[in-house]
Amino acid sequence: MKDVIFLEPVFKEMIWGGNRLRTDFGYDIPSDYTGECWAVSAHANGDCTVKSGLYKGEKLSGLWKNHRELFGGVKGETFPLLIKIIDAKADLSIQVHPDNEYAYRYEKGSLGKTECWYILDCDADGKIVVGHNAKDKEELKNMIAEGRWRELIRVLPIKKGDFFQIEPGTVHAIKAGTVILETQQNSDITYRLYDYDRLSGGKPRELHIAKSIDVIKCPHVDGAVNRKEIKLEHAVVEEFITCQYYSVKKLSVNGRQVFKQTEPFTILSVIEGEGFLDGIKIIKGDHFILPAGYGDYCLEGHMRLITSHI
Ligand code: ZN
Repeated sequence: MKDVIFLEPVFKEMIWGGNRLRTDFGYDIPSDYTGECWAVSAHANGDCTVKSGLYKGEKLSGLWKNHRELFGGVKGETFPLLIKIIDAKADLSIQVHPDNEYAYRYEKGSLGKTECWYILDCDADGKIVVGHNAKDKEELKNMIAEGRWRELIRVLPIKKGDFFQIEPGTVHAIKAGTVILETQQNSDITYRLYDYDRLSGGKPRELHIAKSIDVIKCPHVDGAVNRKEIKLEHAVVEEFITCQYYSVKKLSVNGRQVFKQTEPFTILSVIEGEGFLDGIKIIKGDHFILPAGYGDYCLEGHMRLITSHI
């Protein structure tokens, strides 16, 4: 049997971050302002290291470059996905991402960003920003110019277990008190539209109004999410989305259940509980990749996982 690729996350301190990556997930975080755990990443800004096995100590980007057979020979210069856990102690700035075409043209050949969110936890009155209320670009420009942010920004109530697909061109922001697992295209291009007029070190953070107006889709259309539940003997598989870039599902395991690997490689994150993967102990906060040709895998225990593949 092939080696499971367990990864060591990379942590990012953010002015809006908190300490729940330690208190909820047990990670050794750098400070009480830790906003992001880059759990499965081969991005230059946070490249995960392999924890154990044959490739121990190598970077995920190195495996992608030198051992493409582990990923079924999938083409592409960069590892296609990026999985993060985000702890928002304060509101994140309101932002928007370009699509591939725009990013390629205006961001030195970079990829655009489609992302999706699974709400791991939130406050009782949790809220999130997805979309806006301008009917066309003209109205969008006017509302921005006149600072009519309350009117423009669309705020939705959320609860634990909700799932959102954020297409490029979608105005979005995570709000305070929310912990999210994000699955996204491997890109770090973000345009900041509005930062609640906050100051950071006495100054407002840079905004990217012109590029934001360029890429924001008008009117807003919600990203299509097709939730579907499949009951197995000892697990429930909940499908959230299959789009051009990824498929994302939740596995709720109660007992011993065998799953079939049908994709080139499989990314798994334990978000609750603990158990075993083919006899290897796994706990909440573990992230790993089943390489190409791994075959059937057995999950045993009482746990929830988010899984994704291209
Ligand atoms: Zn985003």
